[in-house]
Amino acid sequence: MTSDTRTITGSDTEHRTSTLPPSGDRWDVIIIGGGAAGLSAALILARARRRVLVLDGGQPRNRFAPHMHGVLSRDGYSPIDLVNDGYHEVRAADGVIRNTRVVETRAVDDGFDVVTDSGAVESARRLIVATGARDVLPDIPGLVEQWGRGVVACPYCDGYEATGRAIGVLLGSAGGVHKAHMILPYSPNLTVFTALAGPLSADDRRLLEHRGVRLEDRAVSRVVVDGDTLTGLALEDDTVVPLDVVFAEPALVPLDDPLRQLGAQRVDSPMGQWAEVDAFGRTSVAGVWAVGNAANPGALVPIAMGSGATAALTVNGELIAEEVAAASAALAEERKG
Ligand SMILES: Cc1cc2nc3c(=O)[nH]c(=O)nc-3n(C[C@H](O)[C@H](O)[C@H](O)COP(=O)(O)OP(=O)(O)OC[C@H]3O[C@@H](n4cnc5c(N)ncnc54)[C@H](O)[C@@H]3O)c2cc1C
Repeated sequence: MTSDTRTITGSDTEHRTSTLPPSGDRWDVIIIGGGAAGLSAALILARARRRVLVLDGGQPRNRFAPHMHGVLSRDGYSPIDLVNDGYHEVRAADGVIRNTRVVETRAVDDGFDVVTDSGAVESARRLIVATGARDVLPDIPGLVEQWGRGVVACPYCDGYEATGRAIGVLLGSAGGVHKAHMILPYSPNLTVFTALAGPLSADDRRLLEHRGVRLEDRAVSRVVVDGDTLTGLALEDDTVVPLDVVFAEPALVPLDDPLRQLGAQRVDSPMGQWAEVDAFGRTSVAGVWAVGNAANPGALVPIAMGSGATAALTVNGELIAEEVAAASAALAEERKG
């Protein structure tokens, strides 16, 4: 996805003079990516009095949507406002956030170096990768322009708002039939467009039709709009199917270069290869965590926040254990002397 201007442009100014204890030139933790997952981790760690640096490209995945849903106490809130609020809260707790992209990550003695696109190098004891994922939409004229508004993907995010409306489902694969069944409770006025998915099995077709779903096998040629509002999908023969909203099935690609550069293991999932993490977000590389969509294609905003917070607790736990061990070694030396 490229055609948007809704990036986070919070000031790069570091927060007021930090009250944190000095710790050489190293950060305790660098967090790459400042969306829901990364900021959530940053907030916990900053409030735990850790020296935290967030390096953020400022392009959260849901920036195309004016509202987000299913986020407790923030239902209908703007995703951009959520991130701006997060920037503010992290900075208020002495966390540092810079708007920049990370281009390289390296394991070094006892920690990690991170290189930004301006060539700056930052070092930390631990690394949390919270870079998210990007959606690759089918190449249908008008689809990208409607992304996040007339064209959406996630029934949990936008299904409820489509209740009783004329809904189209642009299947991306025969396996996507599940999505049609998921969307059916929202409206009986449901058309499934099958051309991108390839032939559906006779059983799938019969079952969908039995449940009142219209199947449309002709290829979709473009999105039809009235001003800025989606009004339908045009087919290859120029027939227009009137619709209020279209659920598409974009391919989701993890933005996991920082993990690959460190050699983190990946695992196969139904949505492609994703970073291998444990329940706390630890990757196969000691000292490196992955959270949010960078580690889990199903991480909606609340899940992304939870994974960031969970990782933060274990990162802090490890750092405390390391510090206690160092202090007790120093004490033993002192006693010897
Ligand atoms: C159109 C749309 C609507 C959605 N609606 C909802 C909804 O209503 N409710 C819901 O719960 N979920 C919704 N989602 C899903 C939501 O976008 C994700 O759950 C959420 O963005 C995941 O958070 P994250 O922090 O993992 O990643 P992101 O929010 O994508 O944040 C990742 C951040 O990392 C930065 N980054 C990436 N690479 C680098 C790098 N190399 N260096 C520095 N920074 C980098 C990015 O610029 C970005 O700021 C929607 C998604 C889409 C596409």
